[in-house]
Amino acid sequence: MRISRISLLQTRYAVICALLLGVLSSCVQIAYDFIEEDETERNLGAQLLQSLAAPAAQAAYHLNQEAARGVVNSLVETPGVVQAQITSDFGEVLAERHRSAARSALAAWIAPHMRAEAPYATDLLASNFGKRVGVLQLHLDRAEIYARILRRAALTLALGVARNLALAIMLLFVFHRVLTRPLEAMIDRIENAGTGGNDDVVAQEIERKDEVGELARAFQNYRVQIADHLEQLDTAQASLRAGERRYRDIVETAEEGVWVIDEHNVTRLVNAKFAQMLRYSADSMLGRPIFDFMDEEGREIALHNVERRRAGVREQHEFKLYRSDGSALWVEMATGPIVDESGAYRGAVAMVTDITERRRARKELSEANEQLSRTVQELQARERETRLVARLSDLMQSCESPAEAFRVIENCAAELFAPVAGSLAVRTSDAGMLATVARWHDSLSAPAVFTESECWAVRRGQTHYSEGVRGVGAVCAHCRESSETGGMCIPLMVQGELLGVVTLQNGVMSVTSVERAAELFSETIKLGLWNLRLRVLLREQATRDALTGLFNRRYLDDALPRELHRCLRSGEQLAVAMLDIDHFKRFNDTYGHEAGDSVLKAVAGVVQDSLRKSDIACRYGGEEIACVLPDSAIEDAHERFEAIRRDIAALRLSSGGRLLEPITVSVGLAQCPAHGRDRDSLMRAADSALYRAKESGRDRICLFGEYTPHAHAANG
Ligand code: GH3
Ligand code: MG
Ligand code: MG
Repeated sequence: MRISRISLLQTRYAVICALLLGVLSSCVQIAYDFIEEDETERNLGAQLLQSLAAPAAQAAYHLNQEAARGVVNSLVETPGVVQAQITSDFGEVLAERHRSAARSALAAWIAPHMRAEAPYATDLLASNFGKRVGVLQLHLDRAEIYARILRRAALTLALGVARNLALAIMLLFVFHRVLTRPLEAMIDRIENAGTGGNDDVVAQEIERKDEVGELARAFQNYRVQIADHLEQLDTAQASLRAGERRYRDIVETAEEGVWVIDEHNVTRLVNAKFAQMLRYSADSMLGRPIFDFMDEEGREIALHNVERRRAGVREQHEFKLYRSDGSALWVEMATGPIVDESGAYRGAVAMVTDITERRRARKELSEANEQLSRTVQELQARERETRLVARLSDLMQSCESPAEAFRVIENCAAELFAPVAGSLAVRTSDAGMLATVARWHDSLSAPAVFTESECWAVRRGQTHYSEGVRGVGAVCAHCRESSETGGMCIPLMVQGELLGVVTLQNGVMSVTSVERAAELFSETIKLGLWNLRLRVLLREQATRDALTGLFNRRYLDDALPRELHRCLRSGEQLAVAMLDIDHFKRFNDTYGHEAGDSVLKAVAGVVQDSLRKSDIACRYGGEEIACVLPDSAIEDAHERFEAIRRDIAALRLSSGGRLLEPITVSVGLAQCPAHGRDRDSLMRAADSALYRAKESGRDRICLFGEYTPHAHAANG
């Protein structure tokens, strides 16, 4: 059986209490005994003195020593009396006797320590007159009395202590049964919770109606609750362990790195994946500060990030770490703070993903995107260029004159090459000369005219880059004035013939698209200009007479109504002349048809040279020339044709080595609106005037309306 602390305590206090109570009660008993013994002794002494006072008085009165001795002897024989003496009133000791009593060892030990006690004495009175006749004294043996008292005291003490001890033991047993044992059982049960214990005792106590029963019941309830809690705790622990195992498995088998640090930025947990990423062993990373795995720049960022974690911020960011071999590793970290129950910051956890591949892919993607957007831009630029050039081509198709075409080209180039400056120069009628006919974007300094030899492109017959990446270092002379960095010249060649040159100035070299646009532009305007030239030529051929170079009659049929309309609307005058070579049939007959042709040409040349640009001269028939002079009074026309007539008459022509005879012409003049408001009437009027000139002798000029019988007839 286990001796509990409470039992020991109880025992100690029980023994102390039993001893104290035993001693106390014994002391009381001893004191009482002592008083009683003393009283008994006094009574004995008094009784002895009283019982023998009469014989002793007789003996003293009579001074009878014999009788006195008898009294003394009887006293000394009495137990407890050790000495007796009778003294007469005269001081004579009549009888005295000592008895050395046989004492117990204790009495013998006590006797020397006792002080002398006064003897019990009584005065002896004479029975007949009552006068004092002597003294009777006796001594009792007090040592024996004290020894007896001491023995009784010892016995009393022993008995008292023994009784109280027995009582204490009995109480202890009772306490043990009713209090200590249940408490110990409960303590034992609590101490051995989960491993068994003395349940029987506790179960017994539950039935009790007192506080112990309540305690036992409370304890039992508590124990049941504890057991439940323990069971729940076990379950929770088991699931916790399972959870921990599961999380550990997850952490260890995760495809992402896991990095846990404490509040001092020291690594506390890493999984195999993260260690593998940084080419360390997991153990060697533990206990190392995070700053060991980054560069100086990274440390500053990390410190800043840690402050954010402390503030409770969760976030995802990219970060550069360094492997054990010093190589850089780009990772993406999803980090969040770790806090304890009180909310205090205890570190951070990061899920780490190796994004080297992703960054590479992203870079490639962004490069591809850039490439794509460049391509799109290029395509857009091309589309714009194509659109502009198509429009240019279309407009050029509709141009009727080079001047018109040059304006169209200028506008298109300004839009197409913005902000690159440039110009277009075309060949002039002067051999070897180029004239600038279109300029765009601040290209005013391009020379108005320059020689073909001033342009390398023209000389080489191919696109020429003055400077820049493709430049050959030779700057065209015509560019020098306008551009410091040189530019690009594209010759416009068609079927080996130079039409002109396109010049693009600064900034061209770095822009491939502009070069491409320039080529496209050049091709387009080259063809456009060539086309225009062909069209002009065709038109010329359709409207001009091949022999004389004058307009033909068809042209006049178109142009005259137009000019008449304009003239009538503006209220101006218009003159029409009909010129005919005199006796031309005869001339032909005389000199031959060829000579006749040369005369025709010469006459046409004189007429053409003498008229204004706005005047129209056309070969009306075989050797007839009709002229329209807009904005001209008939008098002026007369004057002009008079000069023409004279010039023709003054011509000295030769053909086939033969000098030809001079020729004369006759001219008829009519005027709008005076002589007609439409083509036919006006032409008829002019013809009529001519007829009159012929009639009246040739080599002259006649105005319509001047009277001649024939002319009148023709007009009428
Ligand atoms: P008149 O003074 O009355 O005008 O006399 P004419 O001989 O000039 O008149 P006519 O109309 O009879 O003759 C016109 C001649 O012009 C006939 C023809 O031989 C000549 N002729 C017409 N066309 C050409 C041409 O293209 N070349 C040449 N050489 N002669 C032409
Ligand atoms: Mg004629
Ligand atoms: Mg004629």
